Amino acid sequence: MENLGIVIIDEEHDTSYKSDTTPRYNAKEIARYLCKSNNIPLVLGSATPDIDTFYKAQSEKIELLKLSKRANKSNLPEVHVVDLKQELASGNKSMISQMLKEKIDKNLKEKSQTILFLNRRGYSTFIMCRDCGFTAKCKNCNISLTYHMDENKLKCHYCGYETKVFNICPICGSKKVKYFGTGTQKLEAEIKNMFPNASTIRMDIDTVTKKNSHEEILGKFKNENIDILIGTQMVVKGHHFPNVTLVGVVTADREFEH
Ligand SMILES: [Zn+2]
Ligand SMILES: [Zn+2]
Repeated sequence: MENLGIVIIDEEHDTSYKSDTTPRYNAKEIARYLCKSNNIPLVLGSATPDIDTFYKAQSEKIELLKLSKRANKSNLPEVHVVDLKQELASGNKSMISQMLKEKIDKNLKEKSQTILFLNRRGYSTFIMCRDCGFTAKCKNCNISLTYHMDENKLKCHYCGYETKVFNICPICGSKKVKYFGTGTQKLEAEIKNMFPNASTIRMDIDTVTKKNSHEEILGKFKNENIDILIGTQMVVKGHHFPNVTLVGVVTADREFEH
């Protein structure tokens, strides 16, 4: 073959490269195969790379190319990592650190906007009996069911299985059934509780239902100057919101749990 150059794949839109019609394929894998067999370089580009790709880059299995400057030459943001274990030790049981709370407060006073990212939707992400250890799982997939407060249901995020909410353990009959873990619905409730006067908007699969609703939510956030946008990975794309001066990644280390 002639005229082969570099193949560039935008990892950020990786999911859109996966075909769900027959023949099923993953465009990234196909690109990798084609590049390897034709001996041409493959560039995986992303602001939010796949953790597997990033690990390979860090462990030098593949070469890491970094953009150290922004296109518009503005400064890169300051990043603070806050240890929530220390927050808990000093009496803060919230998933919002003291620093993040203060910064949100400052933004509200200055009428600047904030984005909070939490990649779990629903309200509680797992349900367990404190007496016998039973956990609510999907009968089809065997993964933890998530409590959705809006519809008052337990849902499987893989196959869509739904079941009723329960407060008595189906195994041992105990009433000590507890709802743990935080999704975007619970985070929004906590933010409303913490900042009663702040306006919030949530963006996750549960709020993005209609066609264009994705753009509607983002448009509303921007045009109506909503104080806080709370969302799953849908909010971490390359948006341009000049009035957003703060982004909080809530319980960031939970991204490594699977
Ligand atoms: Zn039980
Ligand atoms: Zn399931």
